[in-house]
This record gives sequence, C-alpha cells and structure tokens, in this order.
Amino acid sequence: MALTEKEPDSERRRVTILGSTGSVGCSTLDLIERNPGAYTVEALTAFRNANGLAEQARRIRPALAVVGDPGEYGHLRQALEGTGIEVAAGPEALVEAASRPVDWVMAAIVGAAGLRPAFAAIQQGAILALANKECLVSAGDLMMAEVAKHGATLLPVDSEHNAIFQVFDFDRRESVEKIILTASGGPFRDLDLSSMADVTPEQAVAHPNWSMGAKISVDSATMMNKGLELIEAYHLFGVPHENIEIVIHPQSVVHSLVAYVDGSVLAQLGSPDMRTPIAFALGWPNRIATPVARLNLAELGQLTFEKPDSKRFPAIELAREALQTGGAAPTILNAANEIAVHAFLEGQVSFLDIARTVEMTLTKAPAAQINSLDDVVAIDREARDTARAVIALL
Ligand code: NAD
Ligand code: MG
Repeated sequence: MALTEKEPDSERRRVTILGSTGSVGCSTLDLIERNPGAYTVEALTAFRNANGLAEQARRIRPALAVVGDPGEYGHLRQALEGTGIEVAAGPEALVEAASRPVDWVMAAIVGAAGLRPAFAAIQQGAILALANKECLVSAGDLMMAEVAKHGATLLPVDSEHNAIFQVFDFDRRESVEKIILTASGGPFRDLDLSSMADVTPEQAVAHPNWSMGAKISVDSATMMNKGLELIEAYHLFGVPHENIEIVIHPQSVVHSLVAYVDGSVLAQLGSPDMRTPIAFALGWPNRIATPVARLNLAELGQLTFEKPDSKRFPAIELAREALQTGGAAPTILNAANEIAVHAFLEGQVSFLDIARTVEMTLTKAPAAQINSLDDVVAIDREARDTARAVIALL
C-alpha cells in the first residue's frame, strides 16, 4: 500500500482513561490534547462527577463516557445529549469500558474500586499504564499472573516505580542489589508526634511538592503511601522486601534509584510533575515531549536525604509486615487504610488513628487465602466492615 493510502487513524494510539476526572486522569488528558492526531480516545470514566466528565467528553470526543455511580446516569446522559457519545453508568459499565479493545489503558481510579476495571484491561491484552497502586497492593500476585497470562504490558505510572522501570536492568535481574524508593516525607515530615495528633484534613492534603487527589495526599502524610509503594515495587520488580529501602528526599527530584552489585546506583530525576511519568507510559516505547518544568540543578543547589522515622510514621512498617505475612494481609491493610483515610477526611477520626485503625484491623481480620479476584473482593469487603467496627470503638 502506498503511504498516501494509509488509513488516516492507523498511526493513532487508541486509548481509554479510567478515572479521567481525577488528578492523574486530567494530567493524562492534558498530554493527549497537547499531541493532536496522536491519540483516539475510546472511553473516559469517572465516579460521581458527571458534569466534569461531560465537559471532558465534549472536548475529547470519546466513543463512550461512563460514571461509576448509577445515580449520575441521568445527569451524564442529559449533559451529553446530541453529541453522539455513548453513555453508561454503574460498576459493570466501568468494567465494560475497560474491556473495549484499545492499545492503551490508563488505570487512574483511586482505591480497590479500580480492581475489576484494571483486570478487564489486562484481560484484553492492552498496555496498562498503572497509577492505581491499590490494585497491586490488594491483588498483586493475581494481577502479575494475569498480566503474564494475557501477554499484557504493565507500565508503572507512580513516579517512583516509573523511575525504577527506567533504570532497572530486566535482562540482568541478578545484578540488582536493591531498590531505593524515595519519599518526600509529606507535609508532617518535621512535626513531632504530639502535634501530629491534632492535624486537620486540610493540613494533611496540602502536599509540599505534588498536587494530587485527597486519598493519596493523606497517604503521603501518614507515609502509608510509601508502604503501599513498597508492596507495589515488590510485585512490579520481583525484588524481596529486604532489598527495598526507603529514604526521605524532601525535594522530590530523585524519583527513585536502583543499586547494582558493582556499586553503581542509577537514578531517574525530574521536576515533581506527574506528566513526566504519564508521558513515559503514554508514548512508550517512544518518548513524547512535555511542558514540564526543566530541572535546573544549579538553581536547586542541594538535594538532601534522611532516614524515615518509624515511630512517627508506623504505616511503613505495617505495610512491610503485611507484605511479609502475605496471603490476605496486604488486601486487608489496603482496605482498612481506605476506610481510615475516608473517616479522617470526614472528621471522624484523628490523623494518628489512621495507622492505628489499620494495625487493629490487621490483628482482628481472619487469615484467608486468595485464589481469585472474587476472593480479593470478598476479603476487601470484610476488612472494610472490620475497620468500620474498629473505628466505632476508638
Ligand atoms: P483522584 O481522587 O484525583 O481521582 C480519582 C479518579 O477515580 C476520579 O476520576 C474519580 O472519579 C475516580 N473514582 C474514585 N472512586 C471511584 C470508584 N469507586 N469507582 C470508579 N471511579 C472512581 O486521585 P488521583 O490523585 O488522580 O490518584 C489516582 C490513582 O493514582 C490513585 O491510586 C493514586 O494512588 C495514584 N497516584 C496518583 C498520583 C498523583 O499525583 N495524583 C501519583 C502517583 C499515583
Ligand atoms: Mg509515588
């Protein structure tokens, strides 16, 4: 076929964005809009924000727009009337959206709510750009097995894991000595324990370096985010937990590092802007240009590193222990954390109660085996009930 006879869309990457109205979702759409002609959008999804989703859909023109909350169906349908964009609602519709054949799916739903859609995207063999780290925490073994079974490609979008992915020698795994995950330390890095008891949700979501959704912002403040990322790294890179180190790096410029047996340490650096790791995944294996602020090392002057304090931030060790325990423990840890963070954001529990709730839920929840996604969903639901009961007694 002569070049001129090519289908006009044949070079475009067909993409779906799950959680398009969130922080990562909006950054993904920003990059797509900056590269006109490079992408065709199949589906956009949100949870309750029908207006925001409709506004995105009118701009981006996907084939399908889905709200997770069935109660928002009428709003969405009305807002997209006459556009020809298909509209659907409910958890099953989210799975259906993720199942539509595309080249690339961004998993940017927050929490274990994103599990079934992420699995659906894997099952269709797409490239899965994974921001939704809770999926790997909750169902890591199953998810990695599913990726292998369906020949899907998993690209980490979490900035630390994206950094590691860029410098990890997958062909010589035995030469990797350890992975070093960097952590900003969050807004309470220097706060003493007694002051931490009184911090408000507004203070907790005000992250010093990154602009993110409420849940991950609170996770960064408790440092449970780094605990979740430890489990995420274990699954993505197959490195035992004792070889995954966590170091505080308040500037969030060195996004993570891989240490090799010869003493070499490779790192990926950049401004703290999620559009860099998202662009890495969106263009992969090619690199695409972004407007991200360029790193000016001389202006930065210095980069600092320190050890995390496990007394003030017990969440990291809770996650490490859950990973060591294995089985259902990481699923329970994640579910309890989601409930506790929600309760904190609602003003029902104090900041320090978040880790307390997770710890008590892990103690109370029965040991269980995971053989299927249905098992994960059932354990997740039960752990949420246990966490709610724990909170009621606090
Ligand atoms: P966000 O809260 O800004 O957005 C979440 C998105 O998921 C929204 O579109 C929302 O409508 C949708 N959603 C929420 N609950 C849902 C449900 N029950 N069913 C269906 N859809 C639902 O969150 P975010 O900050 O964009 O984070 C998304 C994921 O990416 C999280 O897992 C987070 O840990 C991870 N992540 C985010 C960042 C960041 O910079 N924001 C960085 C690394 C990793
Ligand atoms: Mg991260």
